[in-house]
Amino acid sequence: MNKTVFITGASRGIGLELTHQYLMGGDQVFAAARNPDAQGLAALKKEYPDSLTLIALDVTDPASIEKAAAALGAQPIHLLINNAGIFKSKRTELETLDESTWLEEFRVNSISPLMVTRAFKANLVAAGSGVVGMMSSKMGSMGDNTSGGDYSYRSSKAALNAVSVSMAKDLAQDGVTVVALHPGWVQTDMGGPNALIDVVTSATGLKAVLDRAGPGESGRFFDYSGAALPW
Ligand code: NAP
Repeated sequence: MNKTVFITGASRGIGLELTHQYLMGGDQVFAAARNPDAQGLAALKKEYPDSLTLIALDVTDPASIEKAAAALGAQPIHLLINNAGIFKSKRTELETLDESTWLEEFRVNSISPLMVTRAFKANLVAAGSGVVGMMSSKMGSMGDNTSGGDYSYRSSKAALNAVSVSMAKDLAQDGVTVVALHPGWVQTDMGGPNALIDVVTSATGLKAVLDRAGPGESGRFFDYSGAALPW
């Protein structure tokens, strides 16, 4: 069955490639970005004029979220991927991390995914068996933290994991599945050129995980290969 998919942070990196993958699969995609005229999205719009809709969305701005939700109206959404994220604190240390950077990462990585999902809850419920993919990171896992450091990014994704589990429980009665995802260490602006995998490998794997996600997977944490991760 063709799906309706809504993806945040679709201007580049993993979000842009997920947009591409769902379009190739014949799905209707709402690609949301702060700059919906971004080069990669404009190229996809040329290739998929009928199945791609570009939406302006800054996930930290309540008015922007409200406007995006109004643009969709009652449109059912089968899959919402909260992909937008930042790692502004990269290379900061215990001694150099500042409070404003930490708060910014929390706003984008932990709080905004809840706000966006809440705004689209009726659309997910309308789909019958909606799925929410929360783009977390293995860096938010306590069980996997062997190297320390990265206080604010790690804690922002750990908070997102907590949000994902609560939301999985709260939305179960509505038939909505919520999973936390680790995309791998991916060659993007965030992951850098030395990352282990490219965006195509990551997005292909994530799509496979999301395509088979249902109530049995809700409230769990998976990487792009489908392996379950420790919290
Ligand atoms: P990226 O290349 O830096 O892209 C980040 C995306 O998030 C961009 O589209 C950016 O939009 C968007 N974004 C940032 N702040 C936003 C806001 N306030 N509103 C709307 N969009 C916003 O990063 P990526 O590697 O593709 O990462 C995607 C997700 O995967 C993130 O959640 C990240 O934490 C997670 N992740 C990545 C890796 C990795 O190795 N790459 C590993 C683990 C987890 P603009 O173009 O407007 O800035």
